[in-house]
Amino acid sequence: MKLDPSTFQLDFKNRRALVTGAGKGIGRAIAMMLHRFNARVVAVSRTDADLKSLQEEIGCETMVADLGSAAEARRMAEQAGDIDLLVNNAAMVLLEPLLQTKIESWDATMALNLRAVLVVTQVIAQQMISREVRGSIVNISSMASFQALASHAAYCASKAGLDQLSRVMAVELGAHGIRVNAINPTVVLTEMGRKAWGDPAKGGPMLARIPLRRFAECEDVAAVVCFVLSDAAGMLNGLTLQVDGGFSAT
Ligand code: NAP
Repeated sequence: MKLDPSTFQLDFKNRRALVTGAGKGIGRAIAMMLHRFNARVVAVSRTDADLKSLQEEIGCETMVADLGSAAEARRMAEQAGDIDLLVNNAAMVLLEPLLQTKIESWDATMALNLRAVLVVTQVIAQQMISREVRGSIVNISSMASFQALASHAAYCASKAGLDQLSRVMAVELGAHGIRVNAINPTVVLTEMGRKAWGDPAKGGPMLARIPLRRFAECEDVAAVVCFVLSDAAGMLNGLTLQVDGGFSAT
């Protein structure tokens, strides 16, 4: 779609945006910012109370699903209706040293962080293609896909896999005018971020390596997601975009 500079603004009017893991943290901030830019938001998460409070704030549609189950992920995507913008954000981290990484932890991490993205995107992208919608998809990856982090074997591997899955999606879906990009944030002190980096003994050295000397806020990530989803980013496809305050430049 050609960008018309005289009318361009970040405006998702008449677009429906599905955000997974929208109950808390980064996903919630993305849902709220999409709403602010006039998108009709479909918020998906596991805990109904989180979705209810989000609904009270922004009047979004909500769907409860455990995306770690492929069947539930497919059911949710099939019932979501027409979607123009998709943000695959839900993920988990289980901190275990390499030699103690359990098969169950590995499988659960891959099921949510990687398989659910495939399953949900298959359904939504097929539906975009059938409706001839030139949609946009953002997969929330992590700096952990580039950076080997101790006790993050399954998480790092899942996010590295997600980056490459995103590129394959960009290649195949690009032929239909659908853009797919990965966003790779540094630490954000959400529930997940605090679990891994809340202890100053761990978080301090990480912070010291970020030239801006701060971790990212949920809104730093949400703003980039909104831009990448928008028509202004019409030639961005297959990116892994690091939102890291300059960490990767060091
Ligand atoms: P968070 O605070 O833990 O929030 C995750 C959200 O996803 C919650 O609403 C959670 O719902 C939902 N969720 C978890 N498991 C789910 C499942 N099986 N089915 C459906 N929903 C599920 O995480 P976050 O820090 O915002 O992370 C969001 C994304 O950013 C993830 O992809 C993460 O890998 C990525 N990221 C985070 C950081 C960081 O430092 N925080 C850095 C880089 C990338 P419940 O609470 O109900 O389980």
